[in-house]
Amino acid sequence: MKQLALHGLPIVMAFILMAFTQSSAGEDQPKLKALIVDGQNNHDWKKTTPLLKKVLESSGRFTVDVATSPSAGKDMSGFRPKFSAYNVVVSNYNGERWSKESEHDFEMYLSGGGGFVSVHAANNSFPDWPAFNRMIGLGGWGGRSEKSGPRVFLNEQGAIERDDSPGPAGHHGPQHEFQLRTRDAEHPIMRGLPPLWKHTKDELYDSLRGPAEGLHVLATAYADPAHGGSGRHEPMLMTLEYGRGRIFHTVLGHADYSIHCVGFVTTFQRGAEWAATGKVKIPIPKDFPSAEHASPSN
Ligand code: ZN
Repeated sequence: MKQLALHGLPIVMAFILMAFTQSSAGEDQPKLKALIVDGQNNHDWKKTTPLLKKVLESSGRFTVDVATSPSAGKDMSGFRPKFSAYNVVVSNYNGERWSKESEHDFEMYLSGGGGFVSVHAANNSFPDWPAFNRMIGLGGWGGRSEKSGPRVFLNEQGAIERDDSPGPAGHHGPQHEFQLRTRDAEHPIMRGLPPLWKHTKDELYDSLRGPAEGLHVLATAYADPAHGGSGRHEPMLMTLEYGRGRIFHTVLGHADYSIHCVGFVTTFQRGAEWAATGKVKIPIPKDFPSAEHASPSN
């Protein structure tokens, strides 16, 4: 018996090691806690929030809660999400100002080292909240104008240009599939992504304006005048800092079919992971879109 036990021990150890290795392949650390904020949006947030939640959860890296505000015109004073309990906050919100307490909480959360992801029309919200506009760098609509900051785009040489000329902020032509061009292939969110990839049908935001302090452009799209665009290379994926906090800003994601894109899914997951931790471990899937072909996801 004694001899058998001794012989058996390495086998048992091997099984334990195998089990450990297998579980560590996908979940070698505690999951990150994400909070999606919604409740008001001129987009179909009731449809898109569950998709965004599923996208984060399907990475295996996140648990996701949702904080839904009262609807427009209702008393917002009781809406006070506990931001500090999360590694990253995702905004799918485009609506009325929050309470002073909630806005203060959010500023403290982010400046203290929190993570924030702004999705599509979330950058339409809060034109009069200066701290929020520093967080997103660029925003559109909501009465924004030259007072909000310059329009920011990349020129044909790939250099950032700022356009201070007067006028409104935020515009898009008819929805269409369009190419994203990687502008920083070494950033953790972008590492391994192709230089060009085709996004599923979406609104191509152009002419956004904002303070754009420390704005780092990860990817642009050419807003082709043939599709009603500005004729400029417009920022699509960006990062910013706010105090010790990290922000990933994606202007993609108008509707369910824009989220059902392997390119959106991958950059959103990786952007959220980076905002939460400063690092990216979520891999790039094999069916990532090519320059010429979009890759709709399930
Ligand atoms: Zn939209």
